Amino acid sequence: MIVYFNGEYLHLDEVKVSPFDRGFQFADGVYEVLRTYNGKLFRFESHMKRLEFSLSELNINFKVQDEFETISIKLAEMNKLLNHNFSVYIQITRGVQFPRKQNYENNLSPTVFVSVSKLKDISYQHKRGVKVILEKDIRWARCDIKSIALLPSIMAKTRAIKSDAYDSIFHRENLITEGSHTNFFAVKNNIIYTAPLSNFILEGITREVIINLCKKNKIKIVEDYVKLDDILQYDEFFITGTLTEITPVVQIDNFIIGNGSPGKLTILLQKYFYEYINSTNSIR
Ligand code: PMP
Repeated sequence: MIVYFNGEYLHLDEVKVSPFDRGFQFADGVYEVLRTYNGKLFRFESHMKRLEFSLSELNINFKVQDEFETISIKLAEMNKLLNHNFSVYIQITRGVQFPRKQNYENNLSPTVFVSVSKLKDISYQHKRGVKVILEKDIRWARCDIKSIALLPSIMAKTRAIKSDAYDSIFHRENLITEGSHTNFFAVKNNIIYTAPLSNFILEGITREVIINLCKKNKIKIVEDYVKLDDILQYDEFFITGTLTEITPVVQIDNFIIGNGSPGKLTILLQKYFYEYINSTNSIR
């Protein structure tokens, strides 16, 4: 496997990360995950804008330019992935600082890593829907930054997998925020609800696409919280993300939703979503 590391294309086993890298010692860094449709990166500019935001909120000294598109395509070529759809992982840490201390110096050179992977087929999950579990949101109060410090999410996702669920859905003070790596949507009386943008959720790029598709197709969508106490009063649920796309939720903890199959509006949105992708991400 060939990866990009600090300006070079290397075999994975040639990469050397310093133990004094602040990413390694403090999870002092940010990341992005993108994917292609029809061989083209989807919403590249939105991902770069979010990456810039994460970097600037943490004062990490790195100017995002268009290089990540070229790097991703080159990596796909080198890893013989050009005939597949693939995902891209970009990670930028603040850099190496010796000796170890918590406060950061301003003159560090960020460590930049990019890898690409072949996407898994999850059409089964899109058709059948998934189970999720509910978890208290114990993450920090800057979930709008895509930081690599992910411990609460990692613990929650692992508990989900152990419970035969796809993801954990977080709640904070009786309000549903989002999943460990997804945004959360609920439907009641043909109105879709999702948490409003704030420091408590990540501004999902798929979330934004869904909101725009709803507006275009005259489906009512409200950016307001679903309350944990009321969750079982909703008719349908789905979660979204770059890799999750639109995944129906058919079970929450031990409760089966409706008749246990994906909801009508969820299926309709999946259709609009793929139509939109095929119209915007045309084959090069
Ligand atoms: N929330 C969190 C916490 C996430 O990690 C992700 C995945 N990036 C999302 C939401 C979905 O965001 P996107 O649609 O941009 O992938």
